[in-house]
Amino acid sequence: MIDAVAVTQQLVRIDSRNPPGDEAACADFLDALLGDAGFTVTRHTFGENRFNLVARLGQPGPAQVFTGHLDTVPLGTLPWTHDPFGGEIVDGRLYGRGSCDMKAGVAAMIAAAVAEAEWIGAQGAVTLVLTGGEETGSHGAKALSEAELLGEARLLVVGEPTANRFLAGHKGALWLSACCSGVTAHGSTPHLGDNALYKAARGVLALEQYQFNTARHPVMGLPSLNVGTLHAGQNINSVPDRAEFSIDIRTIPGLAHAAVREQVGFTLGAETELEALVDLPAVWSDPAQPQMQRLAAAYRAASGREAEAASANYFTDASVLTPALGGVATVICGPGDPAMAHKIDEFCTVADIVEAVAIYREIIRTA
Ligand SMILES: [Zn+2]
Repeated sequence: MIDAVAVTQQLVRIDSRNPPGDEAACADFLDALLGDAGFTVTRHTFGENRFNLVARLGQPGPAQVFTGHLDTVPLGTLPWTHDPFGGEIVDGRLYGRGSCDMKAGVAAMIAAAVAEAEWIGAQGAVTLVLTGGEETGSHGAKALSEAELLGEARLLVVGEPTANRFLAGHKGALWLSACCSGVTAHGSTPHLGDNALYKAARGVLALEQYQFNTARHPVMGLPSLNVGTLHAGQNINSVPDRAEFSIDIRTIPGLAHAAVREQVGFTLGAETELEALVDLPAVWSDPAQPQMQRLAAAYRAASGREAEAASANYFTDASVLTPALGGVATVICGPGDPAMAHKIDEFCTVADIVEAVAIYREIIRTA
């Protein structure tokens, strides 16, 4: 047996902040732990000190896939009250960077699979897909799916923090960098230049009125667009010859990112060049489909709560993994309050970790 709370503490004590990005120590620790527990572990590297792990147990054929990421965000600039790499438990809260997002989820899925190892060995198949590089845009998951190391799947459970709610998807993210060029000149003779800032400003204001030509999703509603940054010019008395702004678009299922990008490009016109920084599609599994119903039934049995047809506010590796696994039924459910993710004094409650293990065990046996 593996104690999910103790494994969460051990993982929190390993620094895997991204940036800079270094999953080597986490991968070493889990490679050994999963190997000892009887898993076939494949270690996949996607850069210097960058690792994914794929651990498989059970019969051949399509597996139940559980996924979590090993990297965490940095600490922020304010001091922590609790050691961010201490993993200390105070009043039922396990503190540390990555405790909630999402080392507790990783530990819970490992503990659940190990607890059900005998059952899985006899009649099941479970694959743990433990990724690096998630926080900077699912780089590990992308590399892993390109390497074709995922195997076949019949469902996907993403252990990101949902406070153990059962969520059927999340919006997609299309982050674009937009660049306008011009010609510099002295600020006293602007007619001799071509002001890139004016071009960018026109584009930004056009985007304020941007309308998505798409129907509302029953759960996620409409897509959204926000211009987050605008940078231009180096000094007050020059005509800026370069202006850049960034656009954060959150999409809904069925809205093709290529089409959105083309439409935004059309709105901005030829004077703006676009480059995609993040391109992760929305994820949604129809709660009425049989595999989702089995997942929901397992969830109800273990938690005593209804599985809601709700979606997460953040995006996950499922944007990459669900399509790579052939569009399998995907649920997002994991320990920890999502509001705690990326915060100072991040914590996950011990009760959440224990409950997540029970939910995952029930999913393994009955979904
Ligand atoms: Zn996360």
